[in-house]
Amino acid sequence: MLFTYPIEATENNWFHDCLCEMVQSIHASLDAGEEPQVWPDIIPMALRDGLRSRRGLRDRINAYQQAAGELTIADRQNIIQILTDQNEIERLLSCDHNCGTANDLPESIRGQAKALFSFAFNLLTNLDIRDTFYGIIYEASPNHVCPFCGCEYFDAPGAVREDLDHYLPKSSYPFAAANLRNLVPMGHKCNSGYKRDQDILKRQDGTRRRAFDPYGGNSIKISLDDSLPFGGEDGVTPDWQIQFDPDSEEATTWDEVFQIRTRYKRDVLNESFRSWLTDFSRWCRFIGVAVGTNEALINAIDRYTTYWGSMGFRDRAFLRAAVFRMLKSQCESGNERLIMLFRDMAVWA
Ligand SMILES: [Zn+2]
Repeated sequence: MLFTYPIEATENNWFHDCLCEMVQSIHASLDAGEEPQVWPDIIPMALRDGLRSRRGLRDRINAYQQAAGELTIADRQNIIQILTDQNEIERLLSCDHNCGTANDLPESIRGQAKALFSFAFNLLTNLDIRDTFYGIIYEASPNHVCPFCGCEYFDAPGAVREDLDHYLPKSSYPFAAANLRNLVPMGHKCNSGYKRDQDILKRQDGTRRRAFDPYGGNSIKISLDDSLPFGGEDGVTPDWQIQFDPDSEEATTWDEVFQIRTRYKRDVLNESFRSWLTDFSRWCRFIGVAVGTNEALINAIDRYTTYWGSMGFRDRAFLRAAVFRMLKSQCESGNERLIMLFRDMAVWA
């Protein structure tokens, strides 16, 4: 992904922690042969007054408890292990850890576990956790764009809510459904059009793979330097070679899940190339930059690239800068056909 979110945004994770504590308390009582505490005493003391009126939560806790009470101690211990493992988000994404999925839970409690944690996720909105979380991320996001594509703009806090992706999908990893560490604001196209319910931790053949940690601090740059001018189907647009720097397993997962290369090529580069060339020619005329010699042309492209490179993620500037960086390099290498194209455009722009 192009940039990551600040880990501080996930610190207000008290509700997820509370939920896990209640489940663990139920298991501990049952394993000791005791009756679990009843609602609202099951809620940690400090949070009891704030949550006791949440009847939907109470009903799902009770249903979970009922199902857990009918399992063996070994089954219950296995569930707690899965709960713990599914929330080791950072280590799971780096392949330093593994976890069981919903299918590894006893069938008789699977539905109750999913229902409890999915309901808890929905409660994040009512408890004002979701909006506070989004506000921090919105302010921290460069140019307020989706970091998975760099092209979709986020609306300001207070607007219709942006998608909140379960990075580890809740259908497979229900115990992480309300964990802010697993929740990622994401543009609608990236979330609903591409990622959907794909398992970020596993390839389609079921093998494990590394994935970017949205709160991990790593970022990636796009290079088009190996693209071939005039190599596209129309004979003018380049044959795009999109490279990631660094090119890592995480970047491969990102491309597979979000179809980054396909989208950039089809929706941005092929669609915009000719108009970006025209824009460049207009810019040269507007500010009076001469392109009569190769040296002058290369100098003009360099200035234009620097300008767009300074624009960050605004209006897909990072991709336009990458295009002109490649074109400059080609002109420096003496690509006469490309130099002639620039000259011709300078005449009629
Ligand atoms: Zn996006």
